[in-house]
Amino acid sequence: MPPTFRPLPAAFVSTPLTSSSGWTRGMPPPTPRIVLSFSCHTYLGSRLDRSSLGVVRATPTLFTSRKPKLSYNNFLLKASAAPTEGNSLLRDNFTPSTSLNWEEATVREYVAALAENGHPLVTQVNGENQSLSDDWLEKKTRSKRESFLQDSGSTTKAVHGGEQKRQGKKARAILDAIAMPIVQSSTFTFRSSSDCIAYNQGQYDSFEYGRYGNPTTRAAEEKIMLLEEAEDALVSSSGMNSVTTMLLALLSPNDCLVTTRDCYRRTRQFLQTILPRMNIQTIVVDPADTASVEAALKQGAKLFFSEMPTNPLIRVIDAENIVRLCHRYGTICCIDSTFATAYNLKPLCLGADLVLHSGTKYLGGHNDLMCGVLAGKKELLEKIRSLHGILGGVVDPHSSYLLLRGMKTLSLRMRAHNENAALLAQVLSQHPKVSKVHYPSLSSHPDYHVAKTHFKNGFGGVLSFELRGEPFGMDTFAAGIRFVDALSIPHIGPSLGGVESLVEQVCIMGYFDQPQKVRRELGISNGLIRFSCGIEDKSDLVNDVLQALEAV
Ligand SMILES: *Cc1c(COP(=O)(O)O)cnc(C)c1O
Repeated sequence: MPPTFRPLPAAFVSTPLTSSSGWTRGMPPPTPRIVLSFSCHTYLGSRLDRSSLGVVRATPTLFTSRKPKLSYNNFLLKASAAPTEGNSLLRDNFTPSTSLNWEEATVREYVAALAENGHPLVTQVNGENQSLSDDWLEKKTRSKRESFLQDSGSTTKAVHGGEQKRQGKKARAILDAIAMPIVQSSTFTFRSSSDCIAYNQGQYDSFEYGRYGNPTTRAAEEKIMLLEEAEDALVSSSGMNSVTTMLLALLSPNDCLVTTRDCYRRTRQFLQTILPRMNIQTIVVDPADTASVEAALKQGAKLFFSEMPTNPLIRVIDAENIVRLCHRYGTICCIDSTFATAYNLKPLCLGADLVLHSGTKYLGGHNDLMCGVLAGKKELLEKIRSLHGILGGVVDPHSSYLLLRGMKTLSLRMRAHNENAALLAQVLSQHPKVSKVHYPSLSSHPDYHVAKTHFKNGFGGVLSFELRGEPFGMDTFAAGIRFVDALSIPHIGPSLGGVESLVEQVCIMGYFDQPQKVRRELGISNGLIRFSCGIEDKSDLVNDVLQALEAV
């Protein structure tokens, strides 16, 4: 079920005044846990015909010994705002005897003070649900705004007409639509101030502003939570946004982190050029070097962050052991599982704290969207989400929809990607013009055994290989170009993970401006080809690669 747009009340909170004006124009609040409702009925008595303020949960508050008066009028202006239908009468003077430190008190505390004061009376609701009739809602819905619009000017009609009707056929259709609607809205409104108060108190399950969340995006996050078996998830505007927001949220000046040498280039760039400005240092280890990981963790590294498999050499870390070490030394463990996806690997199930994806790749799966994904421990996600709301790398709802749509076929696509890559790796490993194939299904791969114990269904659709020749020779460079240009099926381009195969000669794609000595350290030789297998027919891909090798 989508997290918002509940057009009909399946449940209604039983309160002393059930016809709560807080819930008037549509959605009832979600079923609360334990709710203290304050009802103005008791003290305003018969002057109210059908309203209460709504539902507000009282939180314990510290009071000072000074006892300034809390004016109810003041409270209403700050917290309850414009009168909606029934609550206009609440603007009458009312002065509870509660004391509050004015300078220190938040609006949350005003509300709690009012509730504690007994004016309005605080009563415990027993949580029983009460159904509302469609009829009652119809009347409520058509009430004020609808009749106002009928008599309004054409511009007002143009702005409001047909929009945001939260009852009836359209609202029901949103709920009944088989596909999650794209909620193309930057802001989310409250039907009354008491809804807003309830929202702030965690009692009204909705959205506030697009930078803090969106229903379509939340649906994608919930799908990811299920796939990764995560407590929470956060989708952002790109994989790199997820990387940078996660690092900035979890690391502080003077912290250090551990990462592996083979790694997405922009991630490395951030670690090596931006984080040092905040005095955050990175220890780089070989993917197979678990001993160096332990040494770094012993020194107090705050975070371990690695891809699995890595880009572009498809290395595989011993995640099970590393997770155990991270637990021992209290280090946060985050795995960039972009190349694997939950179909092949579930880092959280191995004990990692966080899993990261460039959703641009396999999760989206069609080379038509950009997004990043983080999933894992709630407590960490809360920190990251809070910084995300400040940094603002928000995914747009349309991309979230494409992500949702893409993920529906993740297993089907991954099966094809896995099979295509494994076959191509095998064929290439036997070809005389190929000196080395980087893919963990091959027993020649340095991480063959580790990979076999970690991956459930395959190793993903990306493999890389080196054309025979002097690794940094000009002939090898030219052979790479001839090979890539002779291919018919894969497009030449960066990225990976889509249904279309993509190919790149790594040194002219991502490493064009890197000196040879840097490339030598990173293993980016002149003849290194990265091939992202799409889901095309196996035989077509193999034949295409074989004919292109003829041209080398
Ligand atoms: C592509 C990629 C990223 C960056 O993701 P974007 O969505 O392009 O920002 C990060 N990590 C890995 C392993 C990637 O392949």
